[in-house]
Amino acid sequence: MTYHPTLPAYWDPDALEKDMRRIFHYCIDCRMCVTLCHAFPELFRRVDAKGEDSSVLDAADMQAVVELCNDCKLCFPKCPYTPPHAWNLDFPRLMLRARAVAARRSGISFRDRMLSRPETIGTLSSPLAPVVNALNRNGGFRALLEKLTGIHRETPLPEYHRETFAAWVARRGTRRPAGEPAGRVALFYTCTVDYNAPEVGRAAVEVLERNRVEVAVPPQVCCGMPNLDCGDVEAATAAARQNIGTLHPLVTAGYEIVTPGPSCGFMLRQEYPLLVDTPAAREVAAHTVDLCEYLMRLHNQGKLDTDFPQRPGAVTYHLPCHLKAQNIGYKSRDLMQVAGATVQVIERCCGHDGTWSMRTAHYDHSMQMGRRLFEAMREAGAPIAASDCVLAQLQIQKGTGILPLHPIQVIHRAYGLAGEAH
Ligand code: SF4
Ligand code: SF4
Repeated sequence: MTYHPTLPAYWDPDALEKDMRRIFHYCIDCRMCVTLCHAFPELFRRVDAKGEDSSVLDAADMQAVVELCNDCKLCFPKCPYTPPHAWNLDFPRLMLRARAVAARRSGISFRDRMLSRPETIGTLSSPLAPVVNALNRNGGFRALLEKLTGIHRETPLPEYHRETFAAWVARRGTRRPAGEPAGRVALFYTCTVDYNAPEVGRAAVEVLERNRVEVAVPPQVCCGMPNLDCGDVEAATAAARQNIGTLHPLVTAGYEIVTPGPSCGFMLRQEYPLLVDTPAAREVAAHTVDLCEYLMRLHNQGKLDTDFPQRPGAVTYHLPCHLKAQNIGYKSRDLMQVAGATVQVIERCCGHDGTWSMRTAHYDHSMQMGRRLFEAMREAGAPIAASDCVLAQLQIQKGTGILPLHPIQVIHRAYGLAGEAH
């Protein structure tokens, strides 16, 4: 059993089928993850309809389960049989391997190729941002887009901005603190922040600078998560190699890699060492830190400026699945509390998970998955909602009408920086 795409056995369809039957067998006996998503209930429903064991499942049954996994990773921390347990059970990576083997066999659709290129879409859309945003809100255009690409007409699409985050950095630069800095970071800003939420990147830079952290913004490409969503391991590996190439020299020079994106942080930390099995990949992974995790580290070292003139008040905070899967605790909550917020945490999946929910086949499942989160966010009724994931923010807005902030924006406001000229 392997989860390493660098090994030939990973790509062997017969070995994959054997591994799927073996792991499904354990899950059918256990059933602990039945409430987490639609993939597990589908597996149990199909096996119960036919017999008792995974041997009764055919290729269509297995594919149906794979289709319903949105790679939220929630089952991994819950499962008692993950490596180093002898059963070596990693359900999300098994699903990823099934998508990868299928993509190699049957190719990747036009829609998936398009969805996995946020930079191409962003580069084309940003200069025309007002027009693109208006079209994305237009029902007729969305119906046509759905017909041409299979992107569901109701799925919330992110807004574009004329000035991307990278363009803002090129215009403004970053400001080195006088004297010895409190820390040195390389910002992996993520393509979602670059094109769709540059205000999150600006807030990150300004909060870090306020805390006397030296910020480098190295050249970077999309982390590759959208490629993995459609099984394109080769493209994800190419992205990983490119990012490791620019990030590793900074790690060697003593910088920590800090990212505001939960899924992108998960990629750098957990997937890069599997995709690119080199010491450099492992060092990049070991030095990647979530943005709020980094700021809490500064706080624990007594280096965080705790003079917050504008205390945030009550905040309802959604903990994204890919942050939970990094097993780092509740650092964004803790940081907002340090800033004076009263935080209610909601640990429910929003159902978005990258590009999965955008597909016509999955949109309804995704909204159903997010239902409990939407209810909890509405019931909490705090004046501020927050989520670290820019795409989860859109899903929450779709489900509740409330648009959450990134926690770094809550901190940025608490410092009184939000109204200042950039
Ligand atoms: S992934 Fe693990 S915990 Fe979940 S159903 Fe399977 S065996 Fe049980
Ligand atoms: S990763 Fe998420 S969607 Fe996939 S099987 Fe696990 S809990 Fe379900």
